[in-house]
Parts: sequence; C-alpha cells; structure tokens
Amino acid sequence: MSINWTEEVEKRKQSFLEHTKKLLHIRSVLDEENGTKEAPFGEGVRAALDFMLELGEKDSFTTKNVENVAGHIEFGEGEDLLGILCHVDVVPEGDGWSVDPYAGEIRDGKLIARGVLDDKGPTMAAYYAMKIVKESGLPLSKRVRMIIGTDEESEWRCVDTYFKHEEMPTLGFAPDADFPIIYAEKGLTDFDIRFKEGSVQGGQAELKLVTFQSGLRYNMVPDAAEATIDLDSDPTYLCQSFDEFLKENELEGSYLMDSGRLVFRLKGISSHGMEPRNGRNAGLYLAQFLTTLPLDAEGNDLFHSFQSIFT
Ligand SMILES: [Zn+2]
Repeated sequence: MSINWTEEVEKRKQSFLEHTKKLLHIRSVLDEENGTKEAPFGEGVRAALDFMLELGEKDSFTTKNVENVAGHIEFGEGEDLLGILCHVDVVPEGDGWSVDPYAGEIRDGKLIARGVLDDKGPTMAAYYAMKIVKESGLPLSKRVRMIIGTDEESEWRCVDTYFKHEEMPTLGFAPDADFPIIYAEKGLTDFDIRFKEGSVQGGQAELKLVTFQSGLRYNMVPDAAEATIDLDSDPTYLCQSFDEFLKENELEGSYLMDSGRLVFRLKGISSHGMEPRNGRNAGLYLAQFLTTLPLDAEGNDLFHSFQSIFT
C-alpha cells in the first residue's frame, strides 16, 4: 500500500485551517474563579475540550471526557497504547497585540493567534494525522490515543486527574510548539516565597508599601507592574526619581496620587517564561526602583531579597 502523504494533507488543508481557527476562537484561559462542576477550569477551557471531543466523535473515533478536565480521542487496535499528549488551554493574551489574538488572522502565510503554536495548532495537526491514517484504512498494531489536557499552562491538574482514571500509554510523544522536534528543555522551577511573621527587619518606616502586583501566570514574563505606597508627605521627589529611573532604563511608566496613596505603574514586555531574554520583566524593574526608596521593614526586605536577580 502506497500513500502520498503530502497529497492527503493538501486535500484536507482547508478543513484543517477552518478547524484550527475555530479552536483558536475559543478563549480557553484558566478561569477557576468562575469554575463549576461541569467546567472546573472555566467555560472557555471546557468549550475547547468539547470542541476537540465533538470533532473526534463526528469522525467516528472513540472519545471520552474525563471529569471535565481532560479527555481522549482514540482509534486502532492492539494491546499497546500510543499516547499523543496535547493541551487546549492557553495563557492569557496580555497586551500589545497588533491583531485580535483570537481571530486567527493569516498574515504573510502565517496564522497568528494566542496558542496557535502552543498548543492548538500542533493539537489539530496531530488530530489530522490520526484522521488521515484512519481514513486511509491502514492496519494498526497499536491503539492510538490523543490525550487532551486543559491545565497544562498552570498546574497540570488535567493529567493528574486523567491518569487517576485512565491507563498510562506504553509509549508516547507530545506535539507542542516547534516542529519537528524539541528534544530537551531547560529546568523549570515555580516557587512561592513566604516571609515568616517577625522575620523582617531593617528599613526606615518612612513610606509604607501597601500593594505590589505583577504578572498573571508563573510561566510568563510580566508586562505590567503596579505598586501602591502610603505617604503623607509631598510626593514630588519620588515621582522625579521614578521618571529618572524610567529614562535610564528606557522604560514606560506612570504615577498618580489617589487619596493619600501614590501608585506607580511600569510597563514591560511580555514573553513566554522559557525565553525571558525576549521580554522585559516589569515586576523586577519596579522592584528594583522600589529598593531605592526608604520603605517600611516588610517592603524593604521584600525588594532587597530580589537584589541578587537584578545584578
Ligand atoms: Zn504547551
């Protein structure tokens, strides 16, 4: 049996693009705050999972929803199970797009959208590969199962739940991001830092740090940061030194006085956590600026603990 694979792909190119775009239209960002039993990670994430499972069902694959957080699409026969691990959740789009991040616009022959490379495009490509093999009627010696996760970008609870209920594949691969293969990635560490009560010391309590906020996910370089400081004196010198800091570092930012509180905002450039060099971390820049101010003990210790990162 000889199959011209390129021809088979070309024949399905239009429908492949249409299905990929439909999947891209779904804003499948983690939304636990509004989660329900039917959609624990939010409506968007669930809709993206359903979209894939419905597609599989329509094409006569065996499909299964596992606890509304993962699912699979399967065909083939045999004892061994080949797993193709994909995910349909995406990180928040962030700011600074020149196109609608969920429209799936094609520009210069490239499809542009949030999640098109990670992992909706590769998911759909792997699905179509399964579809072509199935429709060609090739005999299979293994079962082939696409396993679809919905929490890959955050805490991987989708696979944890999935494998509590389902069998572990004999072998497998994960079509995610660049084609044809990524054979290794650098290590990743996500961590929370907690200060023990009473452990902070030092700093003059001239200015009290009220809030500091930056970043939406662990695996994104934050493109914005905001800090609020309580003060009862004239803020002019603080604003001036903020302006100087922004100029020195070629950054954008702003400040405003709001009922006795001074708010600093700083803009950075977002990028995927695996390529921090492509971004400018707004949180770290703002923290760096704040170490130059006479903050209260908590604020002072917090930002000085970042110091090793600045240098
Ligand atoms: Zn991914």
